[in-house]
Amino acid sequence: MNSLNRLYIDGQWVTWEGDSIPVHEAATGEVIAQVPAADAATMQQAVEAAERAFGLWSLTSLDDRLAVIRQLLAGLKARTDEIAECISREVGMPIKLSRAIQAGTPIAVTQSYLDLLPGYPFVERVGNSEVQRVPVGVVGCITPWNYPLHQAILKVVPALAAGCTVVLKPSEIAPQSAYILAEILDETDLPSGVFNMVTGFGHDVGEALIRHPAVNMLSFTGSTRTGGVVAAAAAEDFKRYALEMGGKSAAIVLPDADLATAIKHTANNCLLNSGQTCTALTRLLVHTSQHDEACALAKAAFDKMTPGNPLDPDTRLGPLASAEQRDRVLAHIRAAEAEGATLITGGAAAPEGCEQGYFVRATVFGNVKPDGALAQEEVFGPVLAIIPWQTEDEAVRIANGTLYGLSGAVWSADLSKAKAIAGQLRTGQVTVNGGVFNPLAPFGGFRHSGVGREFGAYGLDEFLELRSLQLP
Ligand code: NAD
Repeated sequence: MNSLNRLYIDGQWVTWEGDSIPVHEAATGEVIAQVPAADAATMQQAVEAAERAFGLWSLTSLDDRLAVIRQLLAGLKARTDEIAECISREVGMPIKLSRAIQAGTPIAVTQSYLDLLPGYPFVERVGNSEVQRVPVGVVGCITPWNYPLHQAILKVVPALAAGCTVVLKPSEIAPQSAYILAEILDETDLPSGVFNMVTGFGHDVGEALIRHPAVNMLSFTGSTRTGGVVAAAAAEDFKRYALEMGGKSAAIVLPDADLATAIKHTANNCLLNSGQTCTALTRLLVHTSQHDEACALAKAAFDKMTPGNPLDPDTRLGPLASAEQRDRVLAHIRAAEAEGATLITGGAAAPEGCEQGYFVRATVFGNVKPDGALAQEEVFGPVLAIIPWQTEDEAVRIANGTLYGLSGAVWSADLSKAKAIAGQLRTGQVTVNGGVFNPLAPFGGFRHSGVGREFGAYGLDEFLELRSLQLP
């Protein structure tokens, strides 16, 4: 077992002797690590360290900051296998995907900042004014468990690049990669106090972080419920905030599209990380004439995804990250059945051979009502809702008919028609005919899915204040 009885504060590993939080292996339920359940006083020390470090770090040259980010990139690359394995164990993502996504995306994102920073307009001339983009200050970063290192990197790299100092509070469910990140940064030339990492519960150290008066910005990824708490705390003290929250994304398939391709894409997207993905396409909107064919195609795609141990290289569907998450997903499945949705495949029974751990069958419901709970609430598990529509206007209305607005997809043989439908979706991103993810494009949500953007220059903007000098 990995006993991580330490916290990273002011450039030092500080030993913790108080209560600890067990970390469970998703596939077996066994305890694989213990991390500190730190207290508010310890969080206060971390914020004070970040506050002290801000003065110098905010004035370092871009070259110095780039040098540290290059060292971080080398460390992430060197520890790829370790990162992939620890996140597979905690979160349940199959190891091959974990290597490519859980370990690979942080590398790609860090590289993207190294590429764009030299050309970023930190200073611009507007008439007689010099407009400066200056660091916002001390940033509190709070992250969830589903892509734990990726979420941390998406905040920490642009924050450090902007000249901000950081306190990271990782998820208590998947905290081990935050230790790897702190270990890598500890080996770089980053001055003491610029990056700090404190583990613990949200109601404890999370609250201490969001309410600390020396914190100037809160960058949060997690549930919409907690995002509301973070936004309210920020508003009380006029802190800046950026929120990345939940989703209930819809794929609209027009009748002229290749249905098989659209469903294959939607199934892979919906089941990625066992459905524990904020942008998961969990609603498939098909013309009523294609509903039954869509159900048959989705069943075939989902039935291929037999759950298994994520460390087995042949596994394509792993478990969920925690017993609570599994039970929440099973409750959604039972409620959908009670609501009258047609169970096409999967269901609430434990998958054969996976009685231990937090496994859920890949599940498809047909004839789902657009206003029912399954079509409205984020499930965060391997569950697809197929919803029939009669007119394109109705399809758009259904797609936009939840409180969320994170992502979506449109499929049509006619690209301009697909783009016209995409233009009506109230979401931060839309995949058109299977277009691939772009780490330089802005990522974020409308409405209850988020405030602000991450990735690329848009993610960097969040950590900068504007100052204008009126020159003679
Ligand atoms: P969560 O809201 O339960 O927890 C997220 C983080 O907030 C954790 O570190 C937690 O300890 C902390 N926290 C909890 N209560 C707090 C409080 N009162 N004050 C301060 N911090 C507190 O979310 P989760 O269950 O870890 O993650 C799953 C959710 O995250 C899903 O809803 C998912 O859609 C969302 N998510 C969104 C994105 C995105 O980019 N939009 C990405 C990944 C996950």
